[in-house]
Amino acid sequence: MGEYDLIVVGSGPAGRRGAIQAAKLGKNVLVVEKGKRVGGVSVHTGTIPSKTLRETALNLSGWRERGFYGRSYRVKQDITAGDLRRRLLITLDHEVEVLEHQFARNHVQHIRAHARFVDAHTLEIEKDDGEKSLVTGKAILLAIGTRPHRPDHIPFDGKLVHDSDDILEIEHLPRSLTVIGAGVIGVEYATIFSALDIPVTLVEPRDEILGFIDKEIVEDFIYEMRDRNMKILLGHKAEAVACDPATRRCQVTLSNGRVIQSEMVLYTAGRTGAVDTLNIEAAGLKADSRGRLEVDPETFQTEVPNIYAAGDVVGFPSLASTSMEQGRIAARYAVGAPASEPPNYFPYGIYAVPEISTCGLTEEEVNQRGIPYECGVGRFRETSRGHIMGLNTGLLKMIFSTKSRRLLGVHIIGEGATELIHIGQAVLNLKGTVDYFVENTFNYPTLAEAYKIAGLDAWNRMGEKPLTTEHSDE
Ligand SMILES: Cc1cc2nc3c(=O)[nH]c(=O)nc-3n(C[C@H](O)[C@H](O)[C@H](O)COP(=O)(O)OP(=O)(O)OC[C@H]3O[C@@H](n4cnc5c(N)ncnc54)[C@H](O)[C@@H]3O)c2cc1C
Repeated sequence: MGEYDLIVVGSGPAGRRGAIQAAKLGKNVLVVEKGKRVGGVSVHTGTIPSKTLRETALNLSGWRERGFYGRSYRVKQDITAGDLRRRLLITLDHEVEVLEHQFARNHVQHIRAHARFVDAHTLEIEKDDGEKSLVTGKAILLAIGTRPHRPDHIPFDGKLVHDSDDILEIEHLPRSLTVIGAGVIGVEYATIFSALDIPVTLVEPRDEILGFIDKEIVEDFIYEMRDRNMKILLGHKAEAVACDPATRRCQVTLSNGRVIQSEMVLYTAGRTGAVDTLNIEAAGLKADSRGRLEVDPETFQTEVPNIYAAGDVVGFPSLASTSMEQGRIAARYAVGAPASEPPNYFPYGIYAVPEISTCGLTEEEVNQRGIPYECGVGRFRETSRGHIMGLNTGLLKMIFSTKSRRLLGVHIIGEGATELIHIGQAVLNLKGTVDYFVENTFNYPTLAEAYKIAGLDAWNRMGEKPLTTEHSDE
């Protein structure tokens, strides 16, 4: 029976970062991963595959050049599923190789096996060939992630009706697609397929999409999607899906009786924590109805003192970026090396087409808190870089407190949003003001100049800073 300072279950972003952190602190660490290769959902079915698919779709379709050459412009005329998959496989190989090297360099042991609790310190691990053994850990970090929610009324078949895992394995691109569920994963895939000129219908039972994003940005996003003929049907649930494999036709029936026809259906409404085969009861743990584990938000300790959990299995924000940080913090506490408190604001990136990124408070949140504020907007088409790139769309919005002049939130839609956001994030977390954007020089020509334009836009209405500005905390 192997004995370890820390056993990490799962090798996704939370698990791998946690394992390496503990190893760097000199601890004896084992990672148990049931998947064929290390990397988790992030590398094999989530973040990296969807972002590689997006990049390939934008490159081969010539999407980024269409502002100049028109909507019919294409780099490759007949884009196939094979074209998309080829780049995906190469990218995934690189990711796995880097990860395995990180484990080796840091002396993290990893084993391909399924883990199941025997008690709070002991796990039974079972390899694919059925061989079983026991391992014990002074501490255990659960970084087991989630898997797609697959309700019984949806006839998933991996051919015409897909979830976000098996959509990556399609052999032919569909002639038309219905996406059920307009959460982050749904809008990303819907807009990626639409960028390949595939007619897409996006169905969402709620009356709005992306409710946690600033409304002005969401309105712009919906406008752009509709402008390229995507159908967005809000407020009605998909009640039934029926497909005929012979004719390759699917029908999605909505709660208002409307029937949507398409060749393929992608169901992206929700994910479930992967707790069901872990026998968590034996360790004294319990999960909620969506398979999520409750943890202390600062230390990521569960109700069982030696067991920690991090990443998607603990719920929002369920990002690879935040999972890594949670894994690192959880591992530190698990091996008795407390971590410093994380900064207030982290960025949220949505790699739709166009991409969206946001950090800090939305205008709706600022209103709810009763903070007096001013907004500044910079459009990409006002920047010289935007002209060079042929951009007609894209905007950056900043919200400032008129009392302290401090930046409260940054919201971006358009090319490079997920990179540009980090300038705003730094100013936010360092408690900077509108004057930072007015007084500093930005590289020219860049899209980052939109920060300057938005800063000046707000500054024009806010006026000069008083000679001594008090920066109160809000
Ligand atoms: C389509 C899609 C797109 C996404 N895009 C982005 C994005 O652009 N940016 C971003 O930041 N995030 C994105 N995410 C979210 C991101 O992938 C997740 O937040 C991240 O993977 C969560 O990491 P994790 O460490 O919690 O677990 P996961 O990556 O889910 O890994 C968990 C691992 O645990 C293993 N495991 C589970 N149970 C056991 C067991 N009993 N024994 C052994 N091993 C076990 C699993 O096999 C798996 O490998 C996306 C997700 C999806 C689905």
